[in-house]
Amino acid sequence: MTTQITKNIDTAATALQSGKVVAIPTETVYGLAGVIYRQEAINDIFRIKERPLANPLIVHTHSADSLPEFALDIPEAAFKLADAFWPGPLTLLLRKKSNIPDNVTSGLDTVAVRVPSHPVTASLLRELKQPLAAPSANPFGRISPTTARHVFDYFEGRIPYILDGGACSVGLESTIAGFENGLPVVYRQGAVTAAQIKAVAGSVSVKTASTNTPKAPGMYPRHYSPRTPLIVTDNVKQALADVKGLNTIVIGYSKFCRDVVVEKKIVLPESGNFEEAAARLYSTLHYADSINTDIIIAEKFPETGLGSAINDRLMRASKK
Ligand code: AMP
Ligand code: MG
Repeated sequence: MTTQITKNIDTAATALQSGKVVAIPTETVYGLAGVIYRQEAINDIFRIKERPLANPLIVHTHSADSLPEFALDIPEAAFKLADAFWPGPLTLLLRKKSNIPDNVTSGLDTVAVRVPSHPVTASLLRELKQPLAAPSANPFGRISPTTARHVFDYFEGRIPYILDGGACSVGLESTIAGFENGLPVVYRQGAVTAAQIKAVAGSVSVKTASTNTPKAPGMYPRHYSPRTPLIVTDNVKQALADVKGLNTIVIGYSKFCRDVVVEKKIVLPESGNFEEAAARLYSTLHYADSINTDIIIAEKFPETGLGSAINDRLMRASKK
């Protein structure tokens, strides 16, 4: 099979309608998409990614209006959050209706739903009129893709099309929130922060510490990983001293890091804002992983706002 990078939405729509798997751009990361009702497409997604079958897929739809088609007992807070953050990088976990195939939800009685804001995929979903299941377009455990090229490098010859929507603007996987007694609970941190959810819904709790919560399975302690060993530290100078003699690249966020003398260094974010750092994080990790160093040292971000989500991804990328 040849893999074509295309900007043609109709081409992608036709392939998806015929049960094929196509990579699509979203504002978070690129997804490996299939129509949720096409059993063969969903099976192919798991096979191509080598994703464990117990790790369910997020359903992408064109509008919050379609929520009642997929979900039951939707809490008031879910409508409020949908209203505030959709289209955008927030996934909601709801009780599923029986029309959602079990292979999409790994047999759970919940469904994860999101309305992406990327204009290309928003048009695609409107044209298709069918929801897409789409996990990130990377082999299981590897760094998520934020450009069409990243996807091509992973899956050339395995999928017919990659719909090119440029570099992802958010660059981190969506925030995942469910509801316990009608109140929002964040299971995975992302660009929509717990504080923003609280501001809209009146309360929030965060349950991301346990590595494999049954409510949102598939949160592996090791994930999003480069092949090169990665150390995450709040003391880059010390970490550099510890690995003296090794060929090292430093990824740092702070002004302090500007003073660190090392041959290979990328400062995130040059502008000093976390949104930009998040948007560039995976591209930077892909690059750092491609230049054959012995080790990557990444400086921890402050644990505020998007900094927590970035640290979460860095920590998982660093686990052996
Ligand atoms: P991603 O790999 O970014 O597509 O995110 C998928 C994650 O969303 C999974 O690993 C689960 O943690 C969560 N998820 C997806 N679907 C469900 C579901 N039906 N019920 C609970 N969690 C889900
Ligand atoms: Mg993923």
